[in-house]
Amino acid sequence: MAPDCIFCRIVGGGIPSRKIYDDEDIFAFHDIRPVAPVHFLMVPRVHIASLYECEPSHAAALGKMLAMAGRLAREQGATDGFRTIINTGRVGRQEVYHVHMHVIGGPDVLPGMIVRK
Ligand code: AMP
Ligand code: ZN
Repeated sequence: MAPDCIFCRIVGGGIPSRKIYDDEDIFAFHDIRPVAPVHFLMVPRVHIASLYECEPSHAAALGKMLAMAGRLAREQGATDGFRTIINTGRVGRQEVYHVHMHVIGGPDVLPGMIVRK
């Protein structure tokens, strides 16, 4: 746990969140500023600042985030597809430095991922 990390504090219960799932490895909760009808975040319980800091010992938690995404997306109402995004670092526009995977969906087709110029 990193005391200054907002997502560590959410996992620890010190900051409230709208939790949708948790187990011994991961924690999932609604994004506070959703960009689509379904928008939640999945994080490892352990503090990892970004994908740059990930190691093989983190594989179970990271794998579980992917393995659970479809079930949770469906339960939240994204029944016809969704998008997963992990932003990393400055170029990836990462805002919170605790690895998190966005799960974004809803009834409408999402915009293209990166606008072609
Ligand atoms: P990123 O740019 O991938 O680092 O995105 C961070 C995400 O965390 C944003 O979509 C924020 O809306 C979301 N966020 C920040 N603080 C909270 C919070 N307290 N509870 C839920 N989501 C949050
Ligand atoms: Zn953290």
